[in-house]
Amino acid sequence: MRRLKNYIGGRWVESRAEDGRPILNPATAETLAWVPFSTPEEVDAAVEAAAASFPEWREVPAVERVQPLFRLKRLMEEHLDELAGLIVDEHGKTLKEALGELRRAIENIEVACGIPILMQGYFSEDIARGIDEYMIRQPVGVAAIITPFNFPAMIPMWFMPYAVACGNTVVIKPSERTPMTMQRIMGLIEEAGFPPGVVNLVNGAGEVATALIDHPRVASVSFVGSTPVARKVYARAAAAGKRVQAQGGAKNPLIILPDAEPELTVRIVTDSVYGNAGQRCLAASLVITVGEAREKFLPLLADAATSRKVGYGKDEGVEMGPVISAESKARIESLIQKGVEEGAKLLVDGRGAKIPGYEKGFFLRPTILDGVPEGGLIFNTEIFGPVMGVMHAKDVDEAIRIANRLSYGNMACIFTSSGAAAREFRHKVEAGNIGINIGVAAPMAFFPFSGWKQSFFGDLHAQNRHAIEFFTQTKVVVERWFPEWTREF
Ligand code: NAD
Repeated sequence: MRRLKNYIGGRWVESRAEDGRPILNPATAETLAWVPFSTPEEVDAAVEAAAASFPEWREVPAVERVQPLFRLKRLMEEHLDELAGLIVDEHGKTLKEALGELRRAIENIEVACGIPILMQGYFSEDIARGIDEYMIRQPVGVAAIITPFNFPAMIPMWFMPYAVACGNTVVIKPSERTPMTMQRIMGLIEEAGFPPGVVNLVNGAGEVATALIDHPRVASVSFVGSTPVARKVYARAAAAGKRVQAQGGAKNPLIILPDAEPELTVRIVTDSVYGNAGQRCLAASLVITVGEAREKFLPLLADAATSRKVGYGKDEGVEMGPVISAESKARIESLIQKGVEEGAKLLVDGRGAKIPGYEKGFFLRPTILDGVPEGGLIFNTEIFGPVMGVMHAKDVDEAIRIANRLSYGNMACIFTSSGAAAREFRHKVEAGNIGINIGVAAPMAFFPFSGWKQSFFGDLHAQNRHAIEFFTQTKVVVERWFPEWTREF
């Protein structure tokens, strides 16, 4: 069976680890490859390779540092179909979703190519007579990047292009559940011509991530994953005096007012809830209908959920793929059952799905739990599967109050034709990414990915200016040059 390799100091190396796991195609349960959980020595070698290449890489002018990124963008575009196919096979999402993910990954590379301008400092002449002061940005050192399973191409690119463009060197640890995409992208990174040691890849699970975080030569940690792990990573890295940005899980409310345009709203809302089989940190998972919107929208949402085409992501017309694993499917089904036990009504039941030709796959069909009790288990649990929880509020103020009771704050959306209601919502709702008649408010690469509350630990988020702040340290220089007459002294 194919064993994935590490990429350390410009060379592909076989891990000596005996521990590891098979990677399964979630639609067929077929084994695609085997990923090693690298040894502590291999993690150390990757960090040392990154540390050794740092002094030289930071001396390369920014305009030259971005040249391999321009090449990487082109290479990723040339290999778009191959990469999308890999994502479908190891993750299960549809081909269209995989292509969308890749587009956003490439967009981050494009933005990072602007580093010569984005990294500029500022200058004040004459802060006192004959004295000037200026700020310059310098790289931080070795950056560790630890990513989740659900966007195997995009999420590493929220960080890597900015980190290296700013003059840092990196070690990437992809998710052990979907590491094949990053393995292939690493091949393209190599082809793009980064000097050896600037970008390194080490495979593994939680222990490898922890070894990276603890390594004394790692200066910064960029993490994306579930909230319990994000919280731990944040605490551990911060206690060691490192910079850390840790993005966590989500439970995203989506409010529908009676004046929302029905057809478009139903399509966008169901795409948000069931896209990526609900395994998206920006999936709407708690729909709150206001007043008459309940009667108007609930039957339409139920129809849309029931008619969604579920299957293998490469098959024609498929709108939703499987979830990542058998364990994940069992966990989601048991949460649906818990929802019923705590009083929600199972309006659409997607359990026990059988997809002809893919009987061994980890499929669920779209599910709707109506009347989720406020404050209960389902209310505040990230299900991370194709399950729409529905609640009802008498007015927009009550809907916002319910949304703000959630402990997460990744995204909140509203559907309405009232500008005043939308403005009130935008102002009051406690979340970092807001959608107004938008179901997946994913920030473009030139905006920060702004999770709040339990969805984020840190202060500087991924992407664009936040990434540049994160991957550089500021140096302020106060400078005086004595005029000619001072030479006499
Ligand atoms: P996960 O937390 O299980 O794993 C994420 C990464 O952490 C993996 O690389 C894993 O190997 C590593 N890891 C596991 N245990 C660890 C430990 N104890 N210490 C350090 N690292 C450890 O998450 P997942 O299931 O792969 O991804 C899904 C989760 O990610 C969901 O909760 C989702 O909401 C979240 N997510 C958040 C965002 C965001 O931007 N906020 C984006 C995508 C996904």
